[in-house]
Amino acid sequence: MTNPSAPRRAGNGDDLLFLPLGGSGEIGMNLNLYGYAGKWVIVDCGVTFGDEGIPGADVITPDPSFIEENRRDLVGIVLTHAHEDHLGAVPYLWPRLRCPVYATPFTASVLRRKLVDVKLEGQVPIIEIPLSDRFQVGPFDIELIRLTHSIPEPNALAIRTGAGTVLHTGDWKFDPQPLVGDVTDTEKLRSLSDEGVLALIGDSTNALRSGHSGSEADVRKALTALFGKYWNRIVVSCFASNIARIESIAVAAMEHGRHVALVGRSLWRMNDAARENGYLKGLPDFLTEDEAADVPRDRIVMICTGSQGEPRAALARIAGEEHPHVALEPGDTVIFSARAIPGNERAIHRIQNGLVELGVEVVTDEHHPEVHVSGHPARDELVAMYQMTRPRIAIPVHGEPQHMRAHAELAQDTQVPHALVPENGMMIRLSPDGPEVLDRVHAGRLVVDGDRLLPVNGAVMRGRNRMLWNGALVATVVVDGKGRLATKPQISAPGLIDPETDGELLESLTESIEQGVAGLRGAPDEQIREDVLRRVRRLIKARTQKKPAVDIHLVRL
Ligand SMILES: [Zn+2]
Ligand SMILES: [Zn+2]
Repeated sequence: MTNPSAPRRAGNGDDLLFLPLGGSGEIGMNLNLYGYAGKWVIVDCGVTFGDEGIPGADVITPDPSFIEENRRDLVGIVLTHAHEDHLGAVPYLWPRLRCPVYATPFTASVLRRKLVDVKLEGQVPIIEIPLSDRFQVGPFDIELIRLTHSIPEPNALAIRTGAGTVLHTGDWKFDPQPLVGDVTDTEKLRSLSDEGVLALIGDSTNALRSGHSGSEADVRKALTALFGKYWNRIVVSCFASNIARIESIAVAAMEHGRHVALVGRSLWRMNDAARENGYLKGLPDFLTEDEAADVPRDRIVMICTGSQGEPRAALARIAGEEHPHVALEPGDTVIFSARAIPGNERAIHRIQNGLVELGVEVVTDEHHPEVHVSGHPARDELVAMYQMTRPRIAIPVHGEPQHMRAHAELAQDTQVPHALVPENGMMIRLSPDGPEVLDRVHAGRLVVDGDRLLPVNGAVMRGRNRMLWNGALVATVVVDGKGRLATKPQISAPGLIDPETDGELLESLTESIEQGVAGLRGAPDEQIREDVLRRVRRLIKARTQKKPAVDIHLVRL
């Protein structure tokens, strides 16, 4: 029997719990917890990227407070694959969790490189798990099942417990010709179905898309045909971690007698991690951007970072004519071999417009759908997965609410008895009778702000936002022993008042403060400060319609 009032120790008795702290209701920052027999295991620990609403924040992680408080019951972090939204938060959150991290060899290579950046190399116990292996993490018996996706070594996890087996799909698709790595291990999925799957917890990204996601082999053919049409320099932008795509671009380039160069640091890091693990084997070493500069324009293909419009990546600098080694000219072509992640469209368009202004031909999947395939399952693939595994419960994750809702409906249409759309922070008991929400725990977002992690709704980020939109004002008021102003109040208001042109406003503020202090002679400091604050806010609002961050320094002589 469950006792909902005290479920925080994972699994009272023999309950199997699922608790997402990130990635439910959003695409990004996946962090999932499974609880059983008093222990928790984390599956994936990813980041999401900031938007213009959060000033100064490029990277955001899930708030791990719940599991941090329950750290003594945490047995490990298991990573399904090496995408940023699945492992990118390990360097930031591991110091708060301090548990072993389990990953396959390529994922471990990518993680090690990231740990070097934050000076954690050698400190995080990384346990490498061979592909398709079965291993024990505390009370969880975990088996890796090979899938296909847009990165090497994507794994589903079969998590076996005394209370049932969960199939956590991670990110996946069915690709009969993934070109890098093996095809999906459908035999293992079927045998798992024979054993009985209590719950499937899985990828909803493309649950609104009909049909099939398509094969990497088709992209390779399409790029080979497309390259034949161009006579000048070709640049292809794609995700650095899409090793199969990099191989496809390289193979297509070689077909047309072109050399291949990598432009951008993250491409080199992924190239190194891939070659370290035996991927990209048949290909010659890639040229650096330096070396590529000397190759005739019709003899080179450059693979370039920045397909999502990242302002500091190579493509943005090329489009802005700021790249030290790569300049494009009329007759050159840039192919975007990637789809825009929702939210990045404006930044991408800015770059595409810059390229068009340079006279460059821009090719995107909008008019040439053949230059990209998604790494996530479309509806036909989801149906096939449910038919193959026959779970009792479907819990869609890795999607915005509309994707998760569509996924849940599809599961029920495919004869899955129970489906539940989760939210971050929901503690869900999984049992053959269906899923049951037992509790809600704190879930939130942390902003990576320089060297600190700050709550997105905390005082610092709220103040930052206010200053960004409204400016700031600081007034220093010096009062002598008799409660009279000792000097004229000092006012500075960056991002709000220009002392050169706003003299009259400054004068009004000064007068108002002087009046306030004069009327409160003998009053306690706090009352004077409050009065000055109120006067400043009221006047600024009346004159500028702005609500700046205001601070009053009261100094008593
Ligand atoms: Zn993902
Ligand atoms: Zn992924």
